[in-house]
Amino acid sequence: MLYARVATSAKKADVDMLLDYQLSPLSGEPGNRVLVPLGNRKVEGIIVQVVDSTEVEQVKPVEKILDDTCLASPMMELAHWVARRAGCSLAAVLFAMLPPRRKALPMGLKLVSPGEKLSVKQLAVVRLMSDGNVRTKAEITRQLGISASPVDALVSKGVLDKAPLIISADFPDWHLDEVEHLTARQKQVLADIAEASHDLSWPGKFLIQGVAGSGKTEIYIRLARQVVEKGGQVLVMVPEIALTAQLVARFRAAFGEKVAVLHSGLEDRVRSDYWRGVDRGEFPVVVGTRSAVFAPLKRLRLVLMDEEHEPAYKQEEAPRYHARDVALYRAERENALVLLGSATPSLETMYQARKGVYKLLTMPERIFRCQLETKLVDMREELQAGNRSVFSRELRNSIDQTLARGEQVILFLNRRGLAPTVLCRNCGFRYTCSHCSTGLTLHSSNLLRCHYCDRSVVLPSKCPRCNSPYLRKLGQGTQKLEEVLAEYYPGHTVLRLDSDSAGSAVARERLLQRFYRGEANILVGTQMIAKGLDFPNVTLVGVMLADLSLAMADFRAAERTFQLVAQAAGRAGRAEKQGRVVIQTYQPEHYSLRFAMQEDYQGFYNYEIAQRKQAMLPPYSNLARIVISSERQQNMERQTETILNELATLSGWEIIYSGPPPFEKLKGSYRWHVLLRQQQCGEDFSQLNAVRKTFKRTANARVVFDYNPVNLM
Ligand code: ADP
Ligand code: ZN
Ligand code: ZN
Repeated sequence: MLYARVATSAKKADVDMLLDYQLSPLSGEPGNRVLVPLGNRKVEGIIVQVVDSTEVEQVKPVEKILDDTCLASPMMELAHWVARRAGCSLAAVLFAMLPPRRKALPMGLKLVSPGEKLSVKQLAVVRLMSDGNVRTKAEITRQLGISASPVDALVSKGVLDKAPLIISADFPDWHLDEVEHLTARQKQVLADIAEASHDLSWPGKFLIQGVAGSGKTEIYIRLARQVVEKGGQVLVMVPEIALTAQLVARFRAAFGEKVAVLHSGLEDRVRSDYWRGVDRGEFPVVVGTRSAVFAPLKRLRLVLMDEEHEPAYKQEEAPRYHARDVALYRAERENALVLLGSATPSLETMYQARKGVYKLLTMPERIFRCQLETKLVDMREELQAGNRSVFSRELRNSIDQTLARGEQVILFLNRRGLAPTVLCRNCGFRYTCSHCSTGLTLHSSNLLRCHYCDRSVVLPSKCPRCNSPYLRKLGQGTQKLEEVLAEYYPGHTVLRLDSDSAGSAVARERLLQRFYRGEANILVGTQMIAKGLDFPNVTLVGVMLADLSLAMADFRAAERTFQLVAQAAGRAGRAEKQGRVVIQTYQPEHYSLRFAMQEDYQGFYNYEIAQRKQAMLPPYSNLARIVISSERQQNMERQTETILNELATLSGWEIIYSGPPPFEKLKGSYRWHVLLRQQQCGEDFSQLNAVRKTFKRTANARVVFDYNPVNLM
């Protein structure tokens, strides 16, 4: 008789328990997905171990083996490590490692008939959908600033119907010139890697710090080719598929059908097929986002991680792993070489490189030595000169000139919507979300929305507190900017890319392709568009308000600002044309902006690392964050007290903050967070894991452990 130890149910992700079930007469092995009874329910689980005896009396049988996917034993071992590092249960990691089951397709809506007798809003929906694209309901309502009911009505009328959301990640018309001769610098970098790794046979760690357009991608491709020729497999990690479509396309061009793509924007069936194909060893190259770090590659010899500094590599829900951490650990165990790349490496990574953990390679020059002119504009001076517009004279003139030449413009504004604040001019009342401690953003002439819980309310015509009709809309978001631009430049098309206009990877890909094909001259977006896109006709990049990221309540605010501005500047002047970058700010003296303007990464690093050292913040210490939340304040407080008592017994960890986080209330829950610091080399979360396991998760308070947190809000 055989028994299976099963890790169950992703829902109880914090419960670390393996349950025994009778396996015989079924045949299953560790790594198989199974259905098992739990209480009076049936839940999914994954077999962790098969044993021939159990201490459980009246053991229940495994209901069935769910499918033929199976995690190989190195992946099962990796899962244990990840669970410890991510402060979660083994089950949560195992479920993240497996491909989605073939049900639950991500579905959107599609126009199937023109319909008749439609209301104005329904007509607007039909007009939007007439381009034939599949969109989610949320995408439609957001884009048009309407409620869900017109959409629902169209579905019941049979005008809209369900259709799967699929991202192709193929940009068929990207210009992909073959690179014939490497530059001297590229040859040197490849030679350095070959030498340090004994022709890629040694699992070395490398970091390329190379400005945008310096030819890093070409290095990745050449290395990958060498590995594939020797029968090895390559994992290529990108922060987001749609925004790094060009890199994906270049790997596709170089390796054709040998490239598997793994990311959550894929139809489940496609993703699952790729996963199985990779598992069978059919794909020598896998390109994917964060979760692709768990791709079942068996001959992994090279891990390439582009834009290694991107926060998107950290998962913000259980399992809270950092893909870079996992990639490094995996590579070491599987004897693979790791190459991280970025124009602006994270402070943590550069610190390691300076210590010699990574071999540092630099590519300081662009392949096409275009003229790039950067300007920092002090918006206070604009105001003094009587210019109250969101555009400085400098930026406005630059846009005029760029459009006149038939070239393209990208403008960044890190804020969505029309107006971030609506204020009563009489009593100062400010509209805030009743469920979150955040302001509401105006999204259409009368719709206010919360960016955190998505709740929306209609803007009344009078102040709810003093009844004054003088409500003032303050500040601007991307949507407003789009409107203003349409007014200033009536002959030109403006596209907007943010999570309202393009919430899914599919929508982002579609929008970027349109811009690439020249269907619009101006692209407005949040920081989303600051990543590695290469648009040869873009010669002007404007950052509308660099101060927004500086104002974040986060010790990484300066680093993020530096990265944002440096990356944004990298979007201009990629080809032979002259490029121009205009950064608008109220704090032109801020060091992160100064260094970014001079493209002085090392200067920024030296300055910032000194600050971190003084404050004993990462990379000079390890942080852990515990967030306690409940819909009832009392429950939250009680749970916090219990945890604080437990934490008091720890050694080596000090509490550096215990109090409400910047968002005290979120989605209707009261929140508290505790930040802990460990001042030592090497990371050890075992004590915290022990605490995590001692308290029983109660139904009324949620506790989340986040190690090496990236998000402190
Ligand atoms: P990065 O990844 O650092 O941003 P890329 O590898 O994308 O840089 O290179 C920037 C541009 O230069 C691309 O259009 C690429 O095709 C081109 N390129 C790269 N290497 C060479 C080379 N040796 N000769 C000519 N063009 C090159
Ligand atoms: Zn008022
Ligand atoms: Zn809210």
